[in-house]
Amino acid sequence: METDLFDISIIGGGIVGLATAYKIQKSRPDLRLLILEKEAVLAAHQTGHNSGVLHSGIYYTPGSLKAENCIDGRRQMVDFAFENGIDHDICGKIIVASQLDELPAMEKVYANGIKNGLTGVRKISPEEISEIEPFCKGVAGLWVPDAGIIDYVAVTQKLAELVTKINPYSEIRLGHAVKFFSKDAAQNLVHTDNAHFRTKKMIFCGGLFADRLARRQGVSIQEKVVGFRGDYYELTEGAEHKIRNLIYPVPNLDFPFLGVHFTRMTDGGIECGPNAVFTFQREGYGKMDFNLEDTLDALSYSGTWQLFKKNWRFGIGEYRRAFSKNLFLKTLQRLVPDLSEPDICQGRSGVRALLLNKRGDTRTDFRIARGEDSIHVLNAPSPAATAALAIADIIWKMADKEFRL
Ligand SMILES: Cc1cc2nc3c(=O)[nH]c(=O)nc-3n(C[C@H](O)[C@H](O)[C@H](O)COP(=O)(O)OP(=O)(O)OC[C@H]3O[C@@H](n4cnc5c(N)ncnc54)[C@H](O)[C@@H]3O)c2cc1C
Repeated sequence: METDLFDISIIGGGIVGLATAYKIQKSRPDLRLLILEKEAVLAAHQTGHNSGVLHSGIYYTPGSLKAENCIDGRRQMVDFAFENGIDHDICGKIIVASQLDELPAMEKVYANGIKNGLTGVRKISPEEISEIEPFCKGVAGLWVPDAGIIDYVAVTQKLAELVTKINPYSEIRLGHAVKFFSKDAAQNLVHTDNAHFRTKKMIFCGGLFADRLARRQGVSIQEKVVGFRGDYYELTEGAEHKIRNLIYPVPNLDFPFLGVHFTRMTDGGIECGPNAVFTFQREGYGKMDFNLEDTLDALSYSGTWQLFKKNWRFGIGEYRRAFSKNLFLKTLQRLVPDLSEPDICQGRSGVRALLLNKRGDTRTDFRIARGEDSIHVLNAPSPAATAALAIADIIWKMADKEFRL
């Protein structure tokens, strides 16, 4: 048993956990924080496997937490990147309709952007698309100047560095998987696979395991987290000139995914993806990865079957595309017809955590809940990396009010 008493323990060393720690430490340098992460490095899961895009806020339902926190969080993230020398570029992006039947959805995205207060978004013609991205073809598009790219792993590492700089008694412990909780007199004990820590309060930012951590800590929730793997291809060096910045399709508004897109990364490479394939292992990055507990958990939940029932056509399409380079290429060619098979090679994968409700709906908003002496981030899918500093403000506001430390 570690004898030190921490004021707040934060479970999960992704961008949401570290942004929360940073905001708390900035407001209250006197509080002693403990950050527990099960992996050997920070940002090992969603944060380190994402597209690295700073989202503008154009897609999200006006008034939703996603819309409000994306816009506020993006502004904060850009300031943070400037102040701390983090690689980023507000390069703007285009959303491109390849066919006329995509125009109503494109109009809806545009209207959302205007309602969400984005300035500078404008409709563009096929000629303007070609001026911005010479190899891209479309019948119409949107220019979104506020979108950009950033290195989220570097952001997470810098947040961690600042936390322990503000309070050298705060600690970041890697390689500690939190297993269960108990109480000792007035204090909480957090048990990991190799130690026990004493803490007054807890904040959970466990990403793909948010639901299990919440249940284990006695929070009653109906929903379950499901994982959607996203595979990327990369443009080979000889084809990189075909993409300047960010090219997105018009999204299918029935899904929380933005469609396979082209992204320039801060290190200069170009990624294409990700697709969205239901995965049988929450942190499984391979196409054949399987975990019995995760699979039984998913298949014993009615929400998963509702999801399959409502979206079987989409699901089968995504599975076929995951195993076929040619089908993946065909999707990419809708935006950039000049791409050919030698231009792309298999890249990395990521797994998104989505809190699925019993109706099988994955389009749920960010969700933060209270537990005993605790706060749980239950749903923080995209654009939560962009929004992390704003989500952290909400969590700190709740913690300040409820924890009374
Ligand atoms: C493929 C993909 C593309 C995306 N693209 C973008 C994008 O371009 N822009 C954007 O804004 N968002 C994007 N997102 C979403 C974004 O990455 C996530 O919303 C964000 O990273 C969530 O951060 P997090 O800290 O909540 O989760 P995570 O980064 O997953 O962190 C959770 C951490 O908790 C740890 N943990 C879990 N259980 C335990 C335990 N028991 N004990 C200790 N530690 C534990 C995990 O190891 C993990 O490190 C994308 C996501 C994916 C997967």
